[in-house]
Amino acid sequence: MQHYLNYINGEWKDSHCQLTVMNPATGAPYATVAQASIEDADLAMAGARHCVSQGLLTDIRPAQRLTWMLKAAEEIRKITEEAALVLCSENGKNLDTARDEFIEAARYFEYYAGIADKIEGISVPLGKDYINFTQYEPMGISVQIVPWNFPVSICARSLAPALAAGNAVVVKSPEVSPIAMTLLFEAIEKAGFPKGAVNLLCGKGSEVGSHLVKHSETNQIVFTGSVPTGQRILIDAAERATPSVMELGGKSAAIALADVDLDTLLSSVKVGIFYNSGQVCSAMSRLLVHRSRYDEVKNAVVDLAQSLSIGVGEDNPDLTPVVSKNQQQQILKMIESARKEGACILTGGSAPDLDGYFVSPTIIEASHEMSITQQEVFGPVLVIMPFDEEEQAIEMANGTEFGLVAGVFGEGLSQTLRVANKLVAGQIFINEWFAGGVETPFGGVGLSGFGREKGQEAIYSYVQTRNIGIRLR
Ligand code: NAP
Repeated sequence: MQHYLNYINGEWKDSHCQLTVMNPATGAPYATVAQASIEDADLAMAGARHCVSQGLLTDIRPAQRLTWMLKAAEEIRKITEEAALVLCSENGKNLDTARDEFIEAARYFEYYAGIADKIEGISVPLGKDYINFTQYEPMGISVQIVPWNFPVSICARSLAPALAAGNAVVVKSPEVSPIAMTLLFEAIEKAGFPKGAVNLLCGKGSEVGSHLVKHSETNQIVFTGSVPTGQRILIDAAERATPSVMELGGKSAAIALADVDLDTLLSSVKVGIFYNSGQVCSAMSRLLVHRSRYDEVKNAVVDLAQSLSIGVGEDNPDLTPVVSKNQQQQILKMIESARKEGACILTGGSAPDLDGYFVSPTIIEASHEMSITQQEVFGPVLVIMPFDEEEQAIEMANGTEFGLVAGVFGEGLSQTLRVANKLVAGQIFINEWFAGGVETPFGGVGLSGFGREKGQEAIYSYVQTRNIGIRLR
């Protein structure tokens, strides 16, 4: 078994304790990683503070940051094939999805490299006696806490804009899937960022994560993960009023209107709920269908679920194991509760007879109030329901505590747009689930969180505005 290390203040560091990472396709140990201690966290924070106080990322031409970032992207692209296999083994995801993560990580570095030298303030007219302008200053040290579902791309999603804006960063990887992130940092190390600018700690959230959040040197928290952990972190952040970005969970609905094109809808259902085995914050976990098309769509969606190939990530099937036994058991438990509440399991609903932590692709007919319709499952489980009137569909789509994404499927632009305008979510997809990319702003409302990642918009999550007013004499 290979052993991996933490990256602290420009050095790879081992620890007295280690975490064992399992392969979800076999249930067997895959690798070990040094378990970062509180002392390691303090070392990383001290390194990052030195980088900030010495102006190593800021007292330079911004174009220098651009150069480092492009080099990081180049190095990430070089390791993609090899590192994707590692991500498959530690996380369970299929090879295409693992590869996508590294390619997307490189894209974040390229995209924000292009912004690093364009973070411009404005001149504010105050009359002839004044000159007034604004500057965007980095926050300082950005502490970033990453979930396991897309550890590499989500890490890069926050790390790249933070660095572009001139922040030093301390990242905490997820316990169950930290290995591919160490490979990402090996690539980033080659870019030549100053010492202390990037740090990676592979530790426990409840220990090292919590310590970082409460640390007196932390200037910003970027948390991507579940609602309960986000709420815990917000309470801790309140102690020092630390600015935070919260990217939390979802229970996102697609509305299929009466004139929906079935093939368009089905290709979106396939990626919407089965990509990454449904372990996607913005998964299409609810499908609301106009009653006039309900039976046709329901049957087609069930056929789709039954046609998916299932297997281990390295073979690149449609559906792979979920990340851990714990996750598998939690999903099966939620399906069982749905059954007890009276929902109808149209297909799936159990673990297939395979080694590893699989959950069959599952379609459930349920009512709007049931817990399976209201709570995030984070697995390959789609709830399907009919509606009669447009207003009813909008009310149902908006009728959870979440608001991450939502979608509308139909032929008429004016109707799809009218419905889209009434949906309460950070991003709306019309006729293609996941329409968008590195360039499009992403984030939630309600329990899905606040602050924006991705796109040019995200840069404003990593800076603070300073106004300078001059009275001419
Ligand atoms: P999680 O259990 O909340 O963990 C997320 C991260 O927080 C992990 O690194 C975890 O460390 C750490 N953590 C746990 N307790 C902490 C504490 N007290 N202080 C600081 N850090 C702590 O979430 P998950 O199960 O990894 O991820 C799935 C969830 O993330 C889903 O709800 C999904 O919707 C959401 N998500 C949201 C987005 C988005 O962009 N909106 C994207 C992806 C995922 P350990 O691993 O050591 O516990």
